[in-house]
Amino acid sequence: LPEQEAFDIEYWLLEEAKLQRMPKPKALAGRVALVTGGAGGIGSATAEKYLAEGACVVLADIDAEALASTKERLVQRHGRDVVCAVEMNVTDEAGVARAFAETAVEFGGLDILVSNAGIASSAPVEETTLDLWNRNMEILSTGYFLVSREAFRTMRAQGIGGSIVFIASKNGLAASPNASAYCTAKASEIHLARCLALEGADAGIRVNVVNPDAVLKGSKIWEGEWLEQRASTYKTDKEGLEEMYRNRSMLKLSVLPEDIAEAAYFFASDLSAKSTGNIVNVDAGNKEAFTR
Ligand code: NAD
Repeated sequence: LPEQEAFDIEYWLLEEAKLQRMPKPKALAGRVALVTGGAGGIGSATAEKYLAEGACVVLADIDAEALASTKERLVQRHGRDVVCAVEMNVTDEAGVARAFAETAVEFGGLDILVSNAGIASSAPVEETTLDLWNRNMEILSTGYFLVSREAFRTMRAQGIGGSIVFIASKNGLAASPNASAYCTAKASEIHLARCLALEGADAGIRVNVVNPDAVLKGSKIWEGEWLEQRASTYKTDKEGLEEMYRNRSMLKLSVLPEDIAEAAYFFASDLSAKSTGNIVNVDAGNKEAFTR
C-alpha cells in the first residue's frame, strides 16, 4: 500500500476502536414503562431488564409487601429516581386510572405497558365453580383490557405511539388438562392483543404477546394452589414438574423469568419497531406444541 493509504487505514482503525469503547446509548433511555404484576417473578425480571436498558419503571401490583421489597431491591441497583411503585388491583377500574395518572405525574408520560399481573388457578371442569371461573376472567381477561384501555388513552393523547406487551401463556394457545378457566382467560388475552394491534396501528401503538411456558423459578404462582393442582394432575411434585417441563422442551432447558424479560424487552424496544400483533413463545421449544 502507498504510505498515505496505510496511514489512513490505521487512523480509521484507531477511530473505530475508540468508538467501540465509547458507552453506547441505552435502548430504552428516556422511555417510561409501567409493569403490572411488577412485584412478581416475571414482572420484576422485566422491570430489572428495562431499568438496565435505561427506562424509568413503575411497578404496579396488588401485593403491597412484595411491591415495597421489589422496589427497594431495584432502587438499590438503579437509583431512586428511576423506579416507583403503585399499589393497584387490575380489576379496579378507578384504581387502574389512578396508577396511570401517578405514572404521568412521576415520569411525565408512558411509552411502554407490560400487562403481566396474573394468577393461575384452575380445576377439572366439573369442579370449576363460577367464582373460580370469574376470578380467572376478571384478573386475566378483564384486567388486561382495563390496563390496555388506559394505556391507549394515554398513548393516543401523547401522539408518539408506544408499545404494549402482553405476558399471556402458552396455555392460551394449547389446551392444558384440568385448567379450562385459566386457558380460556389466557386465550382471550391473546385475541385482545390482536384486536388492539389492529386498532392501535394508526397511532403507532404496537401490541405484541409473549407466551411463557412453565416458569417455576421465582414465580409466586408456583408456590401455592397452582402447584398443588399441577402436581396432582401430573401425579408428581415440584421437582418432578420441573423435570417434566424441561424434558418436553426440544432444548431440554427450563424457562426462567429472565428469558421472558428478554422477549418483553425486544417488544418494548425499537428492535421490534415493525412488529405488531405478533406472538412469541418462550418455551425452549415445546415438543408437544411443535409436533401437534
Ligand atoms: P407471580 O405470582 O410471581 O407474579 C404475578 C404478580 O401479579 C404478583 O406479584 C401478584 O401480586 C400480581 N397480581 C395478581 N393479581 C393481581 C391483581 N388483581 N392486580 C394487580 N396485581 C396482581 O407470577 P409470574 O409467574 O411472574 O406470572 C406473571 C404472568 O405470567 C401471569 O400473567 C401469568 O399467568 C403468566 N405466566 C406465568 C407462567 C409461569 O409458569 N410462571 C407461565 C405462563 C404465563
